[in-house]
Amino acid sequence: MGLLLRGGLVIDPAQALEAARDILIEDGRLMALVAPGSVTEAGHRVIEAADFVVCPGLIDMHTHLREPGQEYKETIATGGQAAAAGGFTAIACMPNTIPVNDSATVTRFILEKAAQAKGPRVYPVAAISQGSRGEVLAEYGELKAAGAVALSDDGRPVSNSQLMRRALEYAHTFDLPIISHSEDLALTGNGVMHEGIVSLQMGLRGIPAAAEETAIFRDVALARLTGARLHIAHVSTAGSVEIIRQAKAAGTQVTAETAPHYFSLTDEAVRGFNTNAKMSPPLRTATDVAAIKKGLADGTLDCIATDHAPHSSLEKEVEFDQAANGIIGLETALGLSLNLVWEGVLTLSQMVAKLSANPARILRVPGGTLQVGKPADISVIDLNHAWTVDVQQFKSKSRNCPFHGWQLTGKPVLTMVGGEIIYKLKELIFML
Ligand SMILES: [Zn+2]
Repeated sequence: MGLLLRGGLVIDPAQALEAARDILIEDGRLMALVAPGSVTEAGHRVIEAADFVVCPGLIDMHTHLREPGQEYKETIATGGQAAAAGGFTAIACMPNTIPVNDSATVTRFILEKAAQAKGPRVYPVAAISQGSRGEVLAEYGELKAAGAVALSDDGRPVSNSQLMRRALEYAHTFDLPIISHSEDLALTGNGVMHEGIVSLQMGLRGIPAAAEETAIFRDVALARLTGARLHIAHVSTAGSVEIIRQAKAAGTQVTAETAPHYFSLTDEAVRGFNTNAKMSPPLRTATDVAAIKKGLADGTLDCIATDHAPHSSLEKEVEFDQAANGIIGLETALGLSLNLVWEGVLTLSQMVAKLSANPARILRVPGGTLQVGKPADISVIDLNHAWTVDVQQFKSKSRNCPFHGWQLTGKPVLTMVGGEIIYKLKELIFML
């Protein structure tokens, strides 16, 4: 018996497809993608999808799952549930756990926990350097063999340019991308928010946009030198977008992501010392937000990634200076990204590409398309579902979200991995 997902508006940028289709799923795979009514119902379970968009399962290439080591913030299981509720069928998890994922042992532990959780696919990102201390490179061959799909010291930059050069060269020999947290720590200093009018008025120490831009400039130069695959994480400034745009025009192998908060909020959100508006890099200005949107629209920014960074109230309900960086994002990413569609910044197909096909291409992982024969990793979305963000409803263990109370339009209603339903919004899914 197969599963028939009937009549949904299929959006699959990889196949340049945007049309109503029936999808037949058998043995965990897509067996047919055909005009509505072409498959006989007999013998199949039917899900009525005519009111919904059906797209390749969303892939978040930047998640922090906190396990091992900080399970009070999030676990691989709860992070997976949050991801599934957000429409994600796969997540790449950053290595800044305790211990850091700089060994095959930790990589395998993550994969075993993910297999037990039966949620989204989990792709470990391993550390660039041992302990992410920026001193000695990790063993990339061993990490790749254990299942790592990329390398990053995310949370901190690789400050030593020579080590970054060696990392890019070494990663290149194993055909792994380096995901750079690009930041000049000397310029960041003790800064806690974007350096500008708001930081001046609030008397908080600022982080100049140049702290990100100079680091991206260096990383791009090193990518050109080595020919390695470089991916820039969480781009937040107008200058960064321009540097990446020019690098791409010059033929450098560089890709980039931004996160929903960088096109949804400005540093004004910090007023009132809101610690849920504290992250690294910091929220920037309206000019930067406009440039991020333009960068998404023209393809300079390839992906939208959540940078889901769970923290407990212990780390957030403290003085602004002391508060931890980061916010959770898995359960709001789609709704916030759809705002770009409602504003006319992106087409629906472009948005799906940035949340699915492009991360799959950059990480070279399966998914990102609904081609017949591939595993059935599918997100079903109700574009018309208006809802209010309520952190108490989140599957994530943490509540550090600046979007509580926001009105969003568009919500995942069903998430499927390998033909198995891992999330459904009960009131909206009508199963015959
Ligand atoms: Zn980072």
